[in-house]
Amino acid sequence: MTHFEKAPAKINLSLDVLGKRDDGYHDVEMIMTTVDLADRIELNTLEEDRVEVTLWSRYVPNDERNLAYKAARLFKQKYNIKKGVHIKIDKVIPVSAGLGGGSTDAAAVLRGLNQLWNMNVPIDELASLGATLGSDIPFCVYGSTGIAKGFGEIVEKLPSPPPFWVILAKPDIGVSTKTIFQRVHMNEIIHPNTEGVIQALHEKNFDMLCNHIGNSLEAITTSLHPEVLYIKEKMRQAGASGVLMSGSGPTVYGLVEQQSKAQRIYNSMKGFCQEVFIVRLIG
Ligand code: ATP
Repeated sequence: MTHFEKAPAKINLSLDVLGKRDDGYHDVEMIMTTVDLADRIELNTLEEDRVEVTLWSRYVPNDERNLAYKAARLFKQKYNIKKGVHIKIDKVIPVSAGLGGGSTDAAAVLRGLNQLWNMNVPIDELASLGATLGSDIPFCVYGSTGIAKGFGEIVEKLPSPPPFWVILAKPDIGVSTKTIFQRVHMNEIIHPNTEGVIQALHEKNFDMLCNHIGNSLEAITTSLHPEVLYIKEKMRQAGASGVLMSGSGPTVYGLVEQQSKAQRIYNSMKGFCQEVFIVRLIG
């Protein structure tokens, strides 16, 4: 039996850090939406009780450290499944980029195994299961557009943004989310206007959305990697209406309404960045 599952990347329309908890995690508030840049996951049942991962990437392990592997093992343990699975990952989303690549693979494996093995596990239960592996996984289980709270385990659906184009530009560096969160000092955090983003989504107001997107981690990442600021500036000069770093970075995204303008910005950014993508929202 074979099952294919699409694992789309996410961008953060807002990311706020509200406080540090006693368990070391941070309380966050993140508005995320999925974009049409996706890894492709192929799942094949194995008669033997084991998990295998195949993927071609210099940066991602194909053993038990892979988040997709961890998700499959967790699913099998939780529902006491004795057969195994071979997971083939066609990696398209840049790694350590702030686009949730590992999280979306893990989420796709949870959704996919639920289908492959006809388990009928409710989606909320899959999201809770995913939360034990990573804070972006619950959102990725649902996809679309939503706000994640707590350390990411509480997800509420939000209206989709108005239709627009997204240009993604990833500077040639990887950023570890853990390293950035370790540098969070609550007294220095600049909070984005999360309510403004929510209102813009409800009103489907593109300009309002562009004026309110914000990311508390941006100042920390850019202090370590000033090239992110350079890319932001170039994206703005090229004509993007809303420009922000996604997640803990370093990918910068630009939002525009017209396709022709998006294409011009894409061409322009190609001069500064190797990894540039032009995508539609699917959130
Ligand atoms: P986020 O935005 O959720 O913080 P990210 O996009 O910054 O995530 P990922 O691409 O998810 O970062 O990769 C982070 C780390 O996870 C890398 O060190 C990578 O090797 C590891 N990893 C494990 N499994 C995967 C996977 N299936 N895909 C990508 N990275 C994975």
